Amino acid sequence: MPEVAELKDLATQQQSVRSQLIAAQTETSDIAREQDKLESDVDQVRQRMTRDQQRLDSGAVTSAKDLESLQHEVGSLNKRQRDLEDVELEVMERLEEAEKKATVLGAEQSRLAAAVEDTERRRVAAHAAIDKDVEHAQRERATVTPDVGEELLTFYEKLRAKLAGIAAVSIKQRRCDGCRLDLSVTDVDRIRSAADDEVIRCEECRRIQVRTAESGL
Ligand SMILES: [Zn+2]
Repeated sequence: MPEVAELKDLATQQQSVRSQLIAAQTETSDIAREQDKLESDVDQVRQRMTRDQQRLDSGAVTSAKDLESLQHEVGSLNKRQRDLEDVELEVMERLEEAEKKATVLGAEQSRLAAAVEDTERRRVAAHAAIDKDVEHAQRERATVTPDVGEELLTFYEKLRAKLAGIAAVSIKQRRCDGCRLDLSVTDVDRIRSAADDEVIRCEECRRIQVRTAESGL
């Protein structure tokens, strides 16, 4: 059944998407953690700057040297804040990218799940149709076998095991329906002279040949 091959292929795709999604989700949470850390760093710098600014504004620091060093510190904190914010911006872009990737993969995962469901439904239906065909064939067979006779039936089953499940075929327009080869003149003569209940077989594929109105004989 083609559905079985499709399901196998879908399973492979699902596995690949699943691992890619896990990787994208891991990346997302790693970057988010990085972002948290940066935010807390920026926060610390801001607090320290506020504290320094308050000290400057309070007028409590009077020594020129202390004032200079405090102002110097505020200057470097400012620069540090700007640097951190630049990094934060870059991290946010990376986070957005990773989240987008995870969203696309998530959608792909849903699409594959729907495809699996659909294919599985078709597989079950195809299977049911085959079961029905088998049931029908078995019913037909049951009506025919009593007339065939034990010995011929045993021979037929043995032949069927050897010939890929097809032991008896019809002759259509002087052509064997098993090997699809045309009958030779000798074959036609042989078959024509055979009794109606005689079991005749194809010289080529060795299958039992059944004569019908369409055999052209
Ligand atoms: Zn044949």
